[in-house]
Amino acid sequence: MDFEIKVAWWPDELIKRFFRKFKPVKNMTLREKQSLFLKNISKLILWAFKQGYELTAGEVYRTESQQLLYFEGYELKKIGLDLKFHKTSRKSKTMDSDHRQKMAFDLNLFVNGEYTNDPAHWKVIHKKWKSMHLKNYSGYEWGWDFNHYGMKQ
Ligand SMILES: [Zn+2]
Repeated sequence: MDFEIKVAWWPDELIKRFFRKFKPVKNMTLREKQSLFLKNISKLILWAFKQGYELTAGEVYRTESQQLLYFEGYELKKIGLDLKFHKTSRKSKTMDSDHRQKMAFDLNLFVNGEYTNDPAHWKVIHKKWKSMHLKNYSGYEWGWDFNHYGMKQ
C-alpha cells in the first residue's frame, strides 16, 4: 500500500517559475541585474525567432559621450582633419537612459525578410517581454521607440 501524502500543491517547475518572475531585484547588485536582464533578453530573442520573427541587434551599451550627443541632438563628423558638431534632432529625452547601465537593448524587427516597425508585431513581442519579469518594460508602452527593451532597476 502507498501511504505517501502529497503536500506539494503546485508542481516544482511552477513554483520555480513563480519565484523567478517575482524575485525582488532591489537587493541585487547592478551587475546581477545586468546578468538577469541579458539572460531574459536572450530568452526573448530565441522566443521571437520561434514565432517566425527575425531580429538584429541595435544599441545595448551607450557611453556618456554618445548619450550626451543624443540628448543634445548632435552628431560628431570628421571633416578633413577636424571633428565638427552637426546639429540633428534630439535622439533621447534623458541623460539617465537604461542604455548607460546596460539595462536596455534595442532590437530591429524583420517579418518575411523585410524590416518593419509595425506596432502590431511589436505588441506581440512586448507582451511576451512583460510576462517574463515584473520589472520589464518596452518602448511600446510609450507609444514610440517600439524597439527599445529594458528592465527597471
Ligand atoms: Zn533603446
